[in-house]
Amino acid sequence: MIAYLIKIKTMFRFILPTVFLFAFSIECVQAQDFQQRAKFTGINLGLNGLASGIGAVINRGESERSGPVFWKGFKRGLVGGALIDIGMRTTKLINTEQQIAWAWPARILSSAGNNIVYNASMNQGWFDELSFSLYTFRFDYHTKNRKFRIRLNTMGLASLWLASNKGRLRFDRTIQSGVMTFESSNLVGIGNIQASGLAYPLAIALDKEVTGYSISNTFAHEMVHILQFDRKSWVRAYVHKTDRKLQERSKLYKSLSSYIHFDLSAPAVLLTYIITSPQEWTCRVFEQEADAYSRGFHRGCSR
Ligand SMILES: [Zn+2]
Repeated sequence: MIAYLIKIKTMFRFILPTVFLFAFSIECVQAQDFQQRAKFTGINLGLNGLASGIGAVINRGESERSGPVFWKGFKRGLVGGALIDIGMRTTKLINTEQQIAWAWPARILSSAGNNIVYNASMNQGWFDELSFSLYTFRFDYHTKNRKFRIRLNTMGLASLWLASNKGRLRFDRTIQSGVMTFESSNLVGIGNIQASGLAYPLAIALDKEVTGYSISNTFAHEMVHILQFDRKSWVRAYVHKTDRKLQERSKLYKSLSSYIHFDLSAPAVLLTYIITSPQEWTCRVFEQEADAYSRGFHRGCSR
């Protein structure tokens, strides 16, 4: 009986508010935008559900049966996917309100979703482990033993190095948006394509020629890419057992791990981007998704 009541309480505390927020954000979308974005909403919910279900099975206890464990992970992954979706939708406010500070709530919402997906993939409580990446740092909090730690993030360092080679740091925009922002001239993206903006896992480079309204327009688009880089939090859960074994075998790796967070999500996303990218920019799924969320439409594949 008590377990049943806890279940209902959990449902009211987490699932219903998420569904409510989700439904509200759909309502705010114009009819013609709905169809394009609904496709990506479906992908975000479905893939995160599936990834979380599989992760939960990988990390299940010896006495647990795969079926119920998968189903539990899948449902939680859907909730996480919905929050990621809402975070991505929030990037449109950067564009419409012409205010890059909307990047903060976009990332916080999306991170909350990624945390749920990770915990679901680990087959543990909804919020057992919470993490957030900011600039070159990684913050982790274990809610069970109340352990907090700050580490350097490999992808934050890589982003800083790559983006700073493109141009100079815009300190004001970095503080306003919570993302390291650089200003550059002659930006060139993957496939030597001239770009008004480029996204690294934790940094954005904007072309100097981009001014006025175009800044928020480009920033919103690049911001979706940042959230895309964050999205594969379940990869870390998939390799959790291997990571543990490595830490047991290598003292060096163990001590490095206490100061450095080896980010696996961003390289996995970059690999997926490259594999799924045809030459034509508008035909790339990741670009279509960035347009659909940040502008409400994408420019259409010309092939
Ligand atoms: Zn893009």
